[in-house]
Amino acid sequence: MHDVVDDLRKSFGSSSVVTDPEIMAGNLTDWTGRFRGEALCVVRPVNPWQVQRVIEIARSSRTAVTSQGGNTSLVGGATPVNGGVILSSQLLQGIEIDMHSQIAKVGAGVTLAELNRKARESGLRFGVDLAARDSATLGGMVSTNAGGMHVIRHGGTRQQLIGIEAILGTGQLVSRLEGLYKDNSGYDWASILCGSEGTLGVITKVVVRLVPVPKHTSVALVSVSSLAAAIRIVSDARRRFAYLDAAEFMNKTGLEYVETLHDKRWPLREIPEYALLLETAGEELEVDQLAEFLDNHEDVDDAVLAYDARAEGLWTWREGQSVAISSQGIPHKLDVTIPIGEMPAFVAYVSELIEAEYPAVHAVFFGHLGDGNIHVNLLNVDDGNAEIDHEIFATVASSGGSISAEHGIGRAKVHDLSLTRSPQDISSMLSIKKALDPMRILNPGILFD
Ligand SMILES: Cc1cc2nc3c(=O)[nH]c(=O)nc-3n(C[C@H](O)[C@H](O)[C@H](O)COP(=O)(O)OP(=O)(O)OC[C@H]3O[C@@H](n4cnc5c(N)ncnc54)[C@H](O)[C@@H]3O)c2cc1C
Repeated sequence: MHDVVDDLRKSFGSSSVVTDPEIMAGNLTDWTGRFRGEALCVVRPVNPWQVQRVIEIARSSRTAVTSQGGNTSLVGGATPVNGGVILSSQLLQGIEIDMHSQIAKVGAGVTLAELNRKARESGLRFGVDLAARDSATLGGMVSTNAGGMHVIRHGGTRQQLIGIEAILGTGQLVSRLEGLYKDNSGYDWASILCGSEGTLGVITKVVVRLVPVPKHTSVALVSVSSLAAAIRIVSDARRRFAYLDAAEFMNKTGLEYVETLHDKRWPLREIPEYALLLETAGEELEVDQLAEFLDNHEDVDDAVLAYDARAEGLWTWREGQSVAISSQGIPHKLDVTIPIGEMPAFVAYVSELIEAEYPAVHAVFFGHLGDGNIHVNLLNVDDGNAEIDHEIFATVASSGGSISAEHGIGRAKVHDLSLTRSPQDISSMLSIKKALDPMRILNPGILFD
């Protein structure tokens, strides 16, 4: 039996293989604090050949390898389940912008914020945006097919992805980095690996399309009395504004948490039952048109508008949600999709379920209204009432929704995957897994039980 840590040190030198428990602590706990893991070491390869070497060493001793980017997963997807090696992609760097094709070739360890900083020099940005942008990496975003705020306008990460380089669990390197918008020459590795949560290969580089940085953004924060009212406003705004960039919602409890954490006063009369954030973005400033639209809409109780740099303050009410909720305890994050028209009935069902059967639990709802994506955040869930997650997922499944809208299955939902994927579906996925990672060394315990 090989000593994996020894083999890695021989290949990469001692300084690249971290075993110090204090330094590793951050890699062994997830962002929410809910999941903890163990690992022999953290290794940080700097190029695909080093990644290939890590996989070879792991294969020779059947050691588990868990991929980790920015470790911002909200489902424990980057926290090792049963020891092994953590392969951090943070040193897989490099950004090349191709202005002819308006695409970027990006190392898997580059953060979203770094990509946007570089792309902005050319008047471009990545079409997907999320609040974890300073830590979330392109490798992690592709691996989870991250969604975020602008899916309503540009689609999710899969829609931006046109090339990939990865080391599969077999140790083979696959590479489609030419940046071709059209390439139908056989199986598309980018599509196969996107959303596979590190279970098939380690992504080392990606090619993504970029979109123009809008000249102006116009933002409205709107008070409404119900989720149904918010949905009606979004439906009308979609028809009225061709460049609707975001349609987000928050509920009263989440807004109160943000107010407390940020010591910030709600900018309208009083904190409403629900708030809606709308953004339009493009060449023209649309703040007057947005104001007129909201003035004339019967579902609007109150609204405040801002534009360009001044709109950032309004975004805090939405972007501050995750951190504000975590400041109240360790949340269970149930990121689900529901057909948009059924969202109010679903939220009412969850609220009634909690009141009747789980009175200790607090629920905070926010999310991407335009995509039917609700983040159900549950506080005070412990061993005594943990079945609440399963009950909610079962209702999502029976409503024709998905138990994971954008965060993935990770560790948090492995036992519930069969609620929305059939046995044939799962066994076909496992056949792909068996072909590309025959020793099952990649991300064990994540996505599949
Ligand atoms: C405040 C906050 C807000 C968020 N908002 C959103 C949001 O709006 N939309 C959204 O979709 N998500 C959101 N997230 C979740 C998270 O940011 C995304 O899932 C993101 O894509 C994870 O990127 P990461 O680099 O941190 O990946 P990690 O957390 O490190 O890993 C995520 C998964 O990808 C795998 N992985 C990582 N790197 C690689 C690689 N190089 N090769 C193969 N597999 C790899 C890991 O094994 C794991 O399964 C949010 C998180 C936070 C903390």
